[in-house]
Amino acid sequence: MLPVSKTVGADAIREAIAAGVTMVGENRIREAGEKAELLADTGVRWSIIGHVQTNKAKDVAAFAHEVQTLDSLRLAEALDRRLQEEGRGVDVYVQVNSSGEEQKSGLAPDEVPDFTARLGDFASLNVLGLMTIAVLSDDTDAVAACFDRVSSVRDRLRDRDGGGWDDLSMGMSGDFELAIAHGATVVRIGTAIFGARPAPHG
Ligand SMILES: *Cc1c(COP(=O)(O)O)cnc(C)c1O
Repeated sequence: MLPVSKTVGADAIREAIAAGVTMVGENRIREAGEKAELLADTGVRWSIIGHVQTNKAKDVAAFAHEVQTLDSLRLAEALDRRLQEEGRGVDVYVQVNSSGEEQKSGLAPDEVPDFTARLGDFASLNVLGLMTIAVLSDDTDAVAACFDRVSSVRDRLRDRDGGGWDDLSMGMSGDFELAIAHGATVVRIGTAIFGARPAPHG
């Protein structure tokens, strides 16, 4: 489980770290970078779960340990180059747009096999698996269908590669039980741990 600390202040994150949290998820790079500085003494690890623009790759490479939203070769190239400069590596998940909604980032399920076949070129990216944000809906069948689409992509990749692709980051506070029932190995939990966020952030 990845605790999501976006909009949560550094002091509250520090309490969570004292209670045993070792990695937190953030969706805004600047906010995450600022908190990473404030909490550098704790050794907590930072996972980026929001869309990363290519021109932010340098900032991400400076402090992040994981990027769950890899969705283009341009970003992979930019991250790899900046990470090589820093002498660092990150774990990555490939983001899949499992709902087909236009406003959502991520690759279409059919694009994932070709995309992932090229990730071996980037030595500083350690690929763990796939990530998705399901449709926000009360229709559990529609939500489950999103998770199932990603699981089947994972099965295709496993067949092709003879294994691997163990991690599926799927599910948030509102749908994590369903996500786990449909194969999630990582759920990203914000409000259920830290409480409701102020409205403008989401
Ligand atoms: C905010 C966020 C979460 C956590 O959402 P909650 O509903 O607060 O659990 C999970 N994943 C992503 C990508 C997020 O942006």
